[in-house]
Amino acid sequence: MNTNYDIIRKLIGLQGIEIVYSNVNNGIFEVFAKSIFDFAVCPHCRHITYIVHNKRCQPYKHLPIWGMDTVIMLEKKRYVCECDPEHPFDEYFAFIRKYQRHTIPHEKYIFTLTHKNTIKNVCGIVGISEGTGQRIYNHYAREQLQANEPEPLRLLGIDDIASKKGHNYDTVIYNQEGRCCSVFSILQRFSRRI
Ligand SMILES: [Zn+2]
Repeated sequence: MNTNYDIIRKLIGLQGIEIVYSNVNNGIFEVFAKSIFDFAVCPHCRHITYIVHNKRCQPYKHLPIWGMDTVIMLEKKRYVCECDPEHPFDEYFAFIRKYQRHTIPHEKYIFTLTHKNTIKNVCGIVGISEGTGQRIYNHYAREQLQANEPEPLRLLGIDDIASKKGHNYDTVIYNQEGRCCSVFSILQRFSRRI
């Protein structure tokens, strides 16, 4: 492998790919890459197949490198297995989610930005639509909630919260001994004036 491409491969930090070319195009750092594997495991019979049905190149937005927007131009193969020749399947990459156009590290970066910012502002910063930003936020927020172990409940608190006074208030119940943001459930939504 070309040494320069090896440096780029380490910089982008994605596993299982080899860099075949890189280029700066209109201020966008393009990295052309393909899988290091020439086989796939059939999802139907679990045997290995080497039969490539077709190939295509798909762009995935990745973490910025040297301050430049970075896109991985990924060669994606479709394999076919002798057990089911009518149904070719996509090769698997651990760093992308199905039907998404961002790498998982980039999605997590976007999610982290939303912790201190509105989704609308984050979408403006990273140059994506609000719909895409919202979908990314929903996925990782749900994942984080599911990963959180419920804390033991001994002291309950109840309070009203609102982003602005005089606007919609939510009543929340929370664990007073837990972390400051451990809101457990929104009881009811109502409006009132102060
Ligand atoms: Zn098969």
